[in-house]
Amino acid sequence: MSRYDVADWDAAVDTIKNAQRIALACHVNPDGDALGALLGTSLALRSLGKTTYPTWGSDPVVPPPSLTFMPGVDSLIQFADIPDETDLFLALDCGAAHRLGSVEKSALESNPLINVDHHPGNDQFGTLNIVVESASSTSEIVAFLLKDAGVEFDRDIATCLYTGVVTDTGRFQYGNSSPETLRLAADLLSYGVEAPQIALQVFESAPFSYLKLLGRVLERATLLEKQRFVYSWITRKDLDDTGVGADETDLLIDAVRTTRDADVAAIFKEQKDGNYRVSLRSKSRPNHPLVSVGEIARAHGGGGHELAAGYTAVDVESAVRDILKHLDDRSES
Ligand code: AMP
Ligand code: MN
Ligand code: MN
Repeated sequence: MSRYDVADWDAAVDTIKNAQRIALACHVNPDGDALGALLGTSLALRSLGKTTYPTWGSDPVVPPPSLTFMPGVDSLIQFADIPDETDLFLALDCGAAHRLGSVEKSALESNPLINVDHHPGNDQFGTLNIVVESASSTSEIVAFLLKDAGVEFDRDIATCLYTGVVTDTGRFQYGNSSPETLRLAADLLSYGVEAPQIALQVFESAPFSYLKLLGRVLERATLLEKQRFVYSWITRKDLDDTGVGADETDLLIDAVRTTRDADVAAIFKEQKDGNYRVSLRSKSRPNHPLVSVGEIARAHGGGGHELAAGYTAVDVESAVRDILKHLDDRSES
């Protein structure tokens, strides 16, 4: 039973069943889906008696505060500690090999390397590729892969996978949340997943200082009415002044995007090296052409989905100019 129409599915299931020592990595600076797929898969493979080495290729290999509740975080290893003699490498939620960061080289030298992902334009960098653009999340794909490999789910595995699904679907509100996604979520809940606790941890556990940072972001928000584009930014100074960690800023974009006056939202986040990480979101309106922010991000060396994407820019002004080049003048109707 292959859940999706993917040529490598059965080979990937067999490869997973036959491997004993398995390295796993998700993309750098992991989000809920990356970490959910990583830890859910690692716990599941351990339940089959395998040895796993879960990590990712950016410092530190410590989950952001909102995700430290996830089962299996204690089993994370430093990326330098992946042993040489593994017999399978699993790359999770990486739209391109470079998203593996410091583990890219060791992943690409591995054979087999299974690339499990749902980003459009994935560059098929694995020896086996399970790329399902229609899937809500990488966690959704691995749920079916693991079932086919004979894994019996338990509460911990289900908690990881559910967290991945709930974060990448924006709590089941985006178009990537299919009937199949909701059936999977229902199935995962039946293992005792505490959905309200997960929601509390992920969405409502910011430090008070986050509200002050959010205030700055909203105060600065700029609307370009004609292009229906809204953006804001944070600097390192904002983080220093408020005491909010860079890994606690993922939800800022969700506040910026709530205005009905824009279809495309961006937030620019200054990095330690002075560059800005750009997060882009697009909203579809009935009878209006959809803006694919994935296309914009890919044109600037990044990647992502049609409705959520990102890349790195040198400063806010030039990034705004670049994005505007992609946005046709829009009527206000
Ligand atoms: P974010 O705005 O960081 O939440 O990212 C939104 C989406 O874009 C996610 O699916 C990310 O995997 C993807 N993405 C973000 N930054 C990059 C990047 N520099 N390169 C490729 N994909 C990215
Ligand atoms: Mn991700
Ligand atoms: Mn994802």
